[in-house]
Amino acid sequence: MVVTYTIASGKGGTGKTTLSVNLGTMLAHYGKETYIMDTDMGMANIGIVLGLENVPVTLHEVLAGKASISEAIYEGPFGVKVIPSGISLQGFQNADPEHLHDVMKEIIQQCDILILDAPAGISRDGVIPLAIADEVILVVNPEISSMVDALKTKILTELVGGKIKGAILNRATLEKTDISIHKIEEVLGVKVIGIIPDDPNVRRASAYKTPVVVKYPNSPAAVEIKKIAAEIAGVD
Ligand code: ADP
Ligand code: MG
Repeated sequence: MVVTYTIASGKGGTGKTTLSVNLGTMLAHYGKETYIMDTDMGMANIGIVLGLENVPVTLHEVLAGKASISEAIYEGPFGVKVIPSGISLQGFQNADPEHLHDVMKEIIQQCDILILDAPAGISRDGVIPLAIADEVILVVNPEISSMVDALKTKILTELVGGKIKGAILNRATLEKTDISIHKIEEVLGVKVIGIIPDDPNVRRASAYKTPVVVKYPNSPAAVEIKKIAAEIAGVD
């Protein structure tokens, strides 16, 4: 059975793209036919972090009716399939997010897991990925503003008929001022399914346009991301 996950947070910069790319890469490594699609169509970053920023066809052209989805699929590390959005604003303007559901239907014919990297905020194109995924994973940083935005995203997801799988606490530190797991679970009313430390290796890896799980597989962040992916993939 195909499972579609949307990685969302409400707030920008929490680590949605980082987690989409790294979880997707590991799921592919664990033998799942995995696709990652950049539904952050305005601030498209997946192509940039994987060195696919100059590809000729992206999700933008597909959603503008100018190309088929098969032309916008590229291979990433460990064989993960990547559908980037373009980086031009013109391309964003021409893309119609209403076609996203149809595009998704085509992709899920050929994969085990589809990951949608959601945009920040609650715009129309941000709400669609919350509604069309089987499950939404909320990315939360250990600060109140991030938790509040995640709560809004959770409420919005449920309003549009979506379902939350759980939350991932990203960029955790050992500082006392960090919001606790208990607090996050209490406020959001969802389970925390992973805790990823704040780790400079994440940024270092991005300079090489390579996911941290590939570039620095034994780094603290990579180790925790691998645990979450193993859990999702059902491997020990
Ligand atoms: P979003 O997609 O939610 O806007 P990104 O994935 O682009 O967020 O991450 C924002 C920034 O935070 C990037 O520079 C990324 O390298 C950095 N980052 C993400 N997760 C971590 C982490 N666990 N430790 C350190 N830096 C991180
Ligand atoms: Mg992003």
